[in-house]
Amino acid sequence: MRVGLGFDVHRFEAGKKLVLGGVEIPSAVGLIGHSDADVLIHALMDALLGALALGDIGDHFPNTEERYRGISSMLLMREVVALITQKGYRVVNVDVMVMAEKPKLAPHKAGMARLLARELGVSSEDISIKATTMEKMGFIGREEGIAVQAVALLASVAEGR
Ligand code: MG
Repeated sequence: MRVGLGFDVHRFEAGKKLVLGGVEIPSAVGLIGHSDADVLIHALMDALLGALALGDIGDHFPNTEERYRGISSMLLMREVVALITQKGYRVVNVDVMVMAEKPKLAPHKAGMARLLARELGVSSEDISIKATTMEKMGFIGREEGIAVQAVALLASVAEGR
């Protein structure tokens, strides 16, 4: 078993698309970034990479590369999962903590879990997505952006047989 930790932050901007966990959420503000700025998937990818000490998403998908501009982070995660598979590991479960003052994530959590489960090759019960506000404190409290923490557990496929 190997465990990995991930963290990411993205800034809000008016009129941008808000994509979280692969789901487009109706919102007056979206997140800015080189890719689709899916901060949840970015934190999750770093957790998945971290579990096998494979560096971070900046190493794998440099934001200086034009081919990653506006790309769906779900596609990047697919590459991370392929790497994990190639290394002889599978995902056991993930736990994600979204820190945001808005939007309300409750109506979207099940949809995100379904999408992530499919990509990670696990069932929805192995995907935990939680959300908290920051009680109006700090940059998240001022609604300047969203931060996400993620933990992923991987297991060696060989040992599981
Ligand atoms: Mg990011």
